[in-house]
Amino acid sequence: MWVRIPCTSATRDKGTSTHQELSAKTLHPGTVLGDLTLLGRVRSGTKGCYNVRRRWRVRCTCGNILTIPQHYLVRNPHPRRNCGKCKATLKTKFRREYRIWTMMRRRCTNPTHVAYKYYGGRGIKVCDEWMSFESGFDEFIEHIGPAPSEDHSVDRIDVNGDYEPGNVKWATALEQAKNTRQYLRKHSKFKYPIGQPPEGTE
Ligand SMILES: [Zn+2]
Repeated sequence: MWVRIPCTSATRDKGTSTHQELSAKTLHPGTVLGDLTLLGRVRSGTKGCYNVRRRWRVRCTCGNILTIPQHYLVRNPHPRRNCGKCKATLKTKFRREYRIWTMMRRRCTNPTHVAYKYYGGRGIKVCDEWMSFESGFDEFIEHIGPAPSEDHSVDRIDVNGDYEPGNVKWATALEQAKNTRQYLRKHSKFKYPIGQPPEGTE
């Protein structure tokens, strides 16, 4: 699985920051965690456990400055590594993938879409977490990662399965054509199948 998109090579921690290693002793102003740079400790609150009371002023590479409890920085799994408000940039950072995500949802939900009958009309769904308009794209791109090239679009590993974690990969039109129901049924020499446009088709 591909995670932590917004990191730059300069700020990427080398995967050595575990819950055990990250503590009040190792966190100090200037510490860089993913996209976040610690600016300084904030006066502790009085409620909650140690890691919740202890809070840090942090700056994200997007420019946002915010205060977050230390707990979010050191928890394992899923430590916070960005401000959480710059996720809209994923949409602009991965424009082509965003368009592919949009088309994937349309094929499965919009009966007027030219390819609907091969997808939504056949019961193929996009899982709930990827359907969400607010967070669906972020979840999708975190799972599948960026497309390897302009020739790749999203393919399902099981052609009768849904668009969901574990059943999607990037594939070229040729690779996708070989994975169609028609091709798999006939086991014939490769020929571009009639009746099922590649998934990149709008
Ligand atoms: Zn940010």
